[in-house]
Amino acid sequence: MELRNPRCDREIVTMRLGFDLDNVIIHYPPVVPEWVFDTFYKEKDHTTLRYRIPGKIEQKGRQLLHLPFLRLPIKRNLSFLQKLHNENKHELYLISSRFGFLKRQTHALAKKYGLTDVFTELFFNFENEQPHFFKDMMIKKKKIERYIDDDLALVTYLAHKNPQTLFFWYNHTENKKILPNLFATTDIQDIANKR
Ligand SMILES: [Mg+2]
Repeated sequence: MELRNPRCDREIVTMRLGFDLDNVIIHYPPVVPEWVFDTFYKEKDHTTLRYRIPGKIEQKGRQLLHLPFLRLPIKRNLSFLQKLHNENKHELYLISSRFGFLKRQTHALAKKYGLTDVFTELFFNFENEQPHFFKDMMIKKKKIERYIDDDLALVTYLAHKNPQTLFFWYNHTENKKILPNLFATTDIQDIANKR
């Protein structure tokens, strides 16, 4: 029989929290407007979600856009992650769908901003799966309870596939419930604080 000291029964909430990288922790490059990413990264088929894996020449261009000096941290969000890490209450997972041709730049960036210290584990899509399949697989594998991402089409897909997980669509203007397990939020802190 397990003996418990009732005085130690304070409520310790431990969750497995998952975070997207680009546009949640790291800014898009200042020279490129956000709509460009949406236009060029997704294929134009409105019935199914599909992301483009760029050809060799475009990969070179994209590698330049991923140089760490063009990818500054979203300071407020990075500070929040550091605070969560210091509190040591939740398990923190980075789940990013960055493709394999960005491996070198991504490792440099993760090291530069201390992401390797902050997260329990970091996962990248270096095998070039479709981003939504990759994230779905990782959320199931690591039993992620809450996940935040700036791609609405992607989190909507994930929310349908993972009804037990609470999802947050990180955006600049809206705070509202979209699905029973999907909230729009302008504040990354909701991932830990939302009741
Ligand atoms: Mg993103």
